[in-house]
Amino acid sequence: MSAAAQPTVEDWKKRASALSFRNQAFIAGKFQPAQSGKTFDAISPLEGKAVASVAACDAADVDAAVKAARAAFDKGAWTGMGPARRKKVLLKLADLMLKNRDELALLETIDMGKPIAYSTAIDVPGAAAAIAWYGELADKVYDEIAPTDPTALALISREPLGVIGAVVPWNFPLLMTSWKLGPALAAGNSVVLKPAEQSPLSALRLAELAAEAGLPEGVLNVVPGFGETAGQAIGRHMDIDCVAFTGSTEVGKYFLRYAAESNMKQVSLECGGKSPNIVLADCPDLDAAARAAAMGIFFNQGEVCNAGSRLLVEDKIKDAFLEKVIANGKKLQPGDPLDPATRMGAMVDHVQMQRVLGYVEEGKKGGAVLKMGGKQARSETGGYYIEPTVFDGVDNKMKIAQEEIFGPVLSTIAFKDAADAVRIGNDTIYGLAAAIWTSNVTVAHKMARALRAGTVWVNCYDAGDITVPFGGYKQSGFGRDRSVHALHKYTNLKTTWINLGK
Ligand code: NDP
Repeated sequence: MSAAAQPTVEDWKKRASALSFRNQAFIAGKFQPAQSGKTFDAISPLEGKAVASVAACDAADVDAAVKAARAAFDKGAWTGMGPARRKKVLLKLADLMLKNRDELALLETIDMGKPIAYSTAIDVPGAAAAIAWYGELADKVYDEIAPTDPTALALISREPLGVIGAVVPWNFPLLMTSWKLGPALAAGNSVVLKPAEQSPLSALRLAELAAEAGLPEGVLNVVPGFGETAGQAIGRHMDIDCVAFTGSTEVGKYFLRYAAESNMKQVSLECGGKSPNIVLADCPDLDAAARAAAMGIFFNQGEVCNAGSRLLVEDKIKDAFLEKVIANGKKLQPGDPLDPATRMGAMVDHVQMQRVLGYVEEGKKGGAVLKMGGKQARSETGGYYIEPTVFDGVDNKMKIAQEEIFGPVLSTIAFKDAADAVRIGNDTIYGLAAAIWTSNVTVAHKMARALRAGTVWVNCYDAGDITVPFGGYKQSGFGRDRSVHALHKYTNLKTTWINLGK
């Protein structure tokens, strides 16, 4: 391979076989086994084989991690550094993430199945950018002085909450982690992070890089393990001040219960979605809309909380438009995730693959028309792949239109006019995102106002960056990741009222 050449699939395979995995909990600055000695297999969905044996943390390990986090917080190991020095550490961490981009990207791809083209170009750079952005923010946020009567000086200051429990999913392991770590650490908190059991490897390496960047011991702790044990222990811990969660709506509700039954910790939830991607007949560019509709559901194998899983198309253009979407979808067949040409990888695990295939059967039984895909692919590899799948003739009441499938399955629904589209779009328990394709700016604004979703895109899908908030309405949760607004959930407001006398 010449210096300038891009790595080939063989190069990535060679690198993958030479990888070493961090497989123990990271507590108080040290890797250590679970106190119980228990482990679980990290299974790569590429070929369905175990690649590492990882510490299975439970309540005892979570407690040790919280004690380390609290000790670091109480002695001011991190907050006491002051914002300017915290910024330097976070910028160094971002830099180390980029320097180790290929290793982190490989861990992500091997652990959860996404194409290496995306983990190198999107996940790792996006995660590093999030850490850097919040690092930059650390010394640029000012507190307030209230406009009181002159006899008083009232200071309104933001203080870190203390110990944050971060519980993240497997679809974007590093990115979701960084969206939480960035603001939580920039604000001066300590963190106990539980990655999903399907994807613990990149978080463990990240903890090591954070230590190398100068994050004091105990400020970031990582406890791999299962949701019912390690996750629940975080939710119920009496000395965690806030849980920041991304995952299913079902588990999000558990965290509300855990908080109510323990110490009333703050909870922020970024949960599921069933986002409507609405194409009106006056769409300015049907080819661009069709490309975006295909990427909106097939990107990351459809394992995306804001996937455009319901395609709502005005009836008079529906058949012609759907043909275009299908033509784009056909180009996105699953391939070897380690091949840089692959644009669709493996489902995260066998359970998720079966779950998605179950929804395909459900769709057929319910009377929807299967137009493309619907089957397992590449079964000879032993891995978990699914063809890009498109249903037409979907009624919004069907299960495949109401439940989050979290796979490459598109449900197409026809509508009559803009009001009908808004009605169908909002007819869901979720409210994470929505998109509108139209040439009429008035219609776009009116529909954007009427759609109950945390993000509404006009003439694009899944656009955005770290500068804008991300989160849901309704049962898609509450609290926001990204942007300055994310700081709110990791800080408390304090009023200090000073009597200045007459
Ligand atoms: P979960 O919501 O179960 O997982 C998210 C996180 O919560 C993981 O770290 C998980 O740990 C943890 N968790 C699971 N159960 C509990 C529990 N009882 N108490 C505390 N923590 C818990 O998602 P799944 O992995 O089960 O995926 C199921 C479905 O959820 C998907 O098909 C999809 O519909 C949806 N989902 C949505 C996501 C989103 O971003 N909106 C992300 C992931 C899933 P562990 O994995 O170790 O069990």
